[in-house]
Amino acid sequence: MIQETPDTPHSSLAAPTTTLLSVVVPAYNEAEVLPEFHRRLSQTLDGLDLGSEIIYVNDGSKDATADILRALQKGDPRVAIVDLSRNFGKEIAMTAGLDYAAGDAVVVIDADLQDPPELIPELVKHWREGYDDVYARRASRDGESFMKRATAHLFYRLLHALSNVDIPPDTGDFRLLSRRAVDSLKQLREQHRFMKGLFNWVGFERKEVFYQRDPRGAGISKWNYWRLWNFALEGITSHTTAPLRLASYLGFMVALCAFVYALYMVYDKLVHGNPVAGYPSLMVTLLFLGGVQLITLGVIGEYLGRMFDESKRRPLYFIKNYMPAATVKNTNAE
Ligand code: UDP
Ligand code: MG
Repeated sequence: MIQETPDTPHSSLAAPTTTLLSVVVPAYNEAEVLPEFHRRLSQTLDGLDLGSEIIYVNDGSKDATADILRALQKGDPRVAIVDLSRNFGKEIAMTAGLDYAAGDAVVVIDADLQDPPELIPELVKHWREGYDDVYARRASRDGESFMKRATAHLFYRLLHALSNVDIPPDTGDFRLLSRRAVDSLKQLREQHRFMKGLFNWVGFERKEVFYQRDPRGAGISKWNYWRLWNFALEGITSHTTAPLRLASYLGFMVALCAFVYALYMVYDKLVHGNPVAGYPSLMVTLLFLGGVQLITLGVIGEYLGRMFDESKRRPLYFIKNYMPAATVKNTNAE
């Protein structure tokens, strides 16, 4: 995409010198792409008629990410670094970035260049039209397997059916949030954070923008099916308790079957004088019920475990180092 300057004239609510755009970038082992990412991002920001800060959240990277960030900060006064004490995962890294962002609008973007920074002016344009959550939707998912696409589709359909959380398909975390949306999000301090759901949960005016998702610039994706499965579990358990209700329905159905079967056995005995059916039917019933009970216990356990985590009320993350941007007076930092 070619860089574009906002085509709207300066509106009254966006005075060029006072309006600040924060860009939050979670980064975990991204040393290979960061220099190129920063080059493209700063070029885009240079073309905007807004002040800007770039908040890099170093999520406990084990490679040279920290050093590279420091070097980037030396060369660019807009760069702020939030150094987490260890790897907390992307959802929490993003949260840390949002906590430290001082901007009137905040863009969340991946460091791996899968989200093109050149789209930011368009996000800003819609924000100026009054939207609170301008999210980028992939026009295509090139480079992703059929299985990954199919499972993702199924998951969003299921989540929508079970909860009323409506997550737009083919949408990641790449988006622009208005100040009031960020302030609302900041009040949601749950440990189990399914950010895509939370973005949607806070509400406000939403607008979608299509873009072409590029393959990763360099380095490797941290995703695999196990993580995807856990991500899905997180999504479901943090937005609906429907699976808990499943136990009651299942119990009811089993009881109904048992009742019908009992009537049949009485009838069989009286009319045909058949002896009581023996071992096989007993075994099947026993195993079936045992299985149902264990599964239900597992479902309850998923929720109980999350309650356990939440009840500890731990802080979401710890900061090892915070190096603010030279140009921005940040009142958010503790
Ligand atoms: N990320 C992070 N902490 C993690 C894993 C990932 O901050 O524990 C960041 C990563 O550096 C990147 C973004 O989250 O900027 C997306 O990660 P990735 O590209 O691995 O995910 P995918 O694009 O495959 O969904
Ligand atoms: Mg990626």
